[in-house]
Amino acid sequence: MNTNSLNHLDYYRLPWNLTDNSISWLEPTSKCNLYCEGCYRLNEKDGHKTLDQIKDDLDVFVKLRNADGVSIAGGDPLTHPDIIEIVKEVKKRNMKPIINTNGLALTKELLKDLRKAGVFGFTFHIDSKQTRPHWKNKTELELNELRYKYAKMLYEEGNISCAFNSTVYEDTMKYVPEMVKWAQDNIDKVQVMVFILYRAVNNKDYDFYLGPKKIDMTQLVYNNDPDTRTDIKANEVVELLRKDYPDFDPCAYLNGSEKPDSFKWLLTGRMATKKKIYGYMGRKGMEAVQMFNHLFYNKYLAYAEPKWARRGKTMLLMGTFDRKLRKTFFNFFKNPLNVFKRLHYQSVMIIQPVDYTKDGRQNMCDGCPDITVWNGELVWSCRMEEQLNYGYNLKTYPKDLLN
Ligand code: SF4
Repeated sequence: MNTNSLNHLDYYRLPWNLTDNSISWLEPTSKCNLYCEGCYRLNEKDGHKTLDQIKDDLDVFVKLRNADGVSIAGGDPLTHPDIIEIVKEVKKRNMKPIINTNGLALTKELLKDLRKAGVFGFTFHIDSKQTRPHWKNKTELELNELRYKYAKMLYEEGNISCAFNSTVYEDTMKYVPEMVKWAQDNIDKVQVMVFILYRAVNNKDYDFYLGPKKIDMTQLVYNNDPDTRTDIKANEVVELLRKDYPDFDPCAYLNGSEKPDSFKWLLTGRMATKKKIYGYMGRKGMEAVQMFNHLFYNKYLAYAEPKWARRGKTMLLMGTFDRKLRKTFFNFFKNPLNVFKRLHYQSVMIIQPVDYTKDGRQNMCDGCPDITVWNGELVWSCRMEEQLNYGYNLKTYPKDLLN
């Protein structure tokens, strides 16, 4: 598969950075009611933080980092007894509370209470490598039935942003185009699809060090040397999607901290109805969205209200300065009766976590949106196990370089 088919300079580099970002990542608990194969957090039975500890974390965000939304994650945040108060605390600090959950503990009653508390949206983590009761050994496509259950729940509650994320493994990657098709079929209920490419520790090619001390990575919760690929690239997923959607084209990205032409976060915005995709958001359109939101709300945009996603026709006005939206405009209004039709906007995000360069540097997401708090500091949430175990991020060196 041609992984160099995309040139990062053709797309908009999202302006998200350490102090001014779209999202922050809050971990009120490391406790979870499920097990996921690719999980990078140790499921601690006493993993709940106190409300005061959580408020302290939020105050660190407020002091050090401007953000539109807070992903309330974990573990699974719905296992935390104070989840309602946590949502209120996020909202009180003028950030959008987005609950990142496997959904297992979500009931209609809890959803109503979360809504009253000010929840802005949910990102449901659902994939086939979870030990989910009643859904074991189901394929990604069979899990669309479960995804639909949660999308319908939020839709009926009204105006709560609905996103799904799935970890993509070598043997499940083939389902991505169909999952994107399912999202189009439900474009009135689902605003965002997120695909996170599976990563694990690579002991075959690299050694891990804490200063001069070599570290045995099997001590950590990360998977070690699984017999499956752990280096799938975002470009490959785009190439796969183009087999079903030849015009599929991203609009914006975050590059790697070490490799400028790597796509660590790759965003595609499509303009469609359930039946037809009329086109894609261009780089200028996404730039305008981010800049206007920052100009008027002093925040880069993470999650928009579902009512905005239903205003695709309004977005076509940006066709005046965005070539791809202009093409979409003419596509859509080829049939003048479409003026009475609703055009939706839907995001597809591909996240490519840590990669290693030949000389052992770790290529992180430059402008990481999932930054969390540890000991009053901002750290990468995907590598916080290192802080929790060693107080530092570990360094990697090509195998036997230092022996
Ligand atoms: S650096 Fe890690 S925590 Fe940050 S966005 Fe990338 S994968 Fe997520």
